[in-house]
Amino acid sequence: TPAPSGALRLQDVFIAVKTTEKFHSTRLALLLETWISRTREHTYIFTDKGSEDESLRGYNAVITNCSSEHSRQALSCKMTAEYDAFMSSDKKWFCHVDDDNYVNPSALLAVLSAFPRDSDVYIGKPSLDRPIRAFEQLDDNKTREVRFWFATGGAGFCLSRRLAEKMAPWASGPRFEQSSAAIRLPDDCTVGFIVERKLGVPLVHSPLFHSHLENLLLITPQQIPWQVTLSYGIFENKLNSVELKGVFSKDTDPSRFKTIHCLLFPSTHWCP
Ligand code: UDP
Ligand code: MN
Repeated sequence: TPAPSGALRLQDVFIAVKTTEKFHSTRLALLLETWISRTREHTYIFTDKGSEDESLRGYNAVITNCSSEHSRQALSCKMTAEYDAFMSSDKKWFCHVDDDNYVNPSALLAVLSAFPRDSDVYIGKPSLDRPIRAFEQLDDNKTREVRFWFATGGAGFCLSRRLAEKMAPWASGPRFEQSSAAIRLPDDCTVGFIVERKLGVPLVHSPLFHSHLENLLLITPQQIPWQVTLSYGIFENKLNSVELKGVFSKDTDPSRFKTIHCLLFPSTHWCP
């Protein structure tokens, strides 16, 4: 049922989380405790195994038939599952995140609400400071050089439904893997290739999406509540995470996700 005002609601956003069995108890559990507790009805967890996994009960979990490898094919397989599930849903926006991302639901809603309804939108943060260069394999054994921007998957990105529908000839079913094979690049690059090169729609570069490929210490505590996504991970042999003081020590909350969650939602039962 559409909102009377026509305003975008958080439940209109399909949030796809990519994970793998070996990260269920480590990475995914932290997300379920924190931001997914606020977005459970419209968050979909894409994994490879674990249909008997108790911890997935009560969530929208999609056990794909994709192999649990880090290969280009395995990851494209999961992106296809995410895209196809979104297309069969009634949601207005598709957002992809990794299992090491924190999503701030109200910041996400604010960013998406700023776009006119029914526009073609691809928004996220590039990991490079220039377009990527690829060689597209053409039918006649020739290749063509192509340049395009893409949003790094590890920072999360979103697509409006109108744009996602236009992507179908290159993204639905087996076509996504074929598009990925044509440029021999991973799933997130392939999304950029389809949107920018096949459809001519430019990526909206947003400074509010973050992966652990950037120095997360540079985000100030005052800026944290406005960020759409955050992350954590090992960078140059050190843990890269946001710097935020709070009730949890770095030992009990190395990712800082619990601390961020208690800052945003202080009434959470486990927040002091
Ligand atoms: N991942 C996966 N299968 C794998 C390894 C990783 O689906 O075999 C997922 C993982 O759960 C995460 C994303 O791929 O959502 C990126 O993995 P990771 O953060 O370990 O690597 P990065 O590319 O960020 O270094
Ligand atoms: Mn990662």
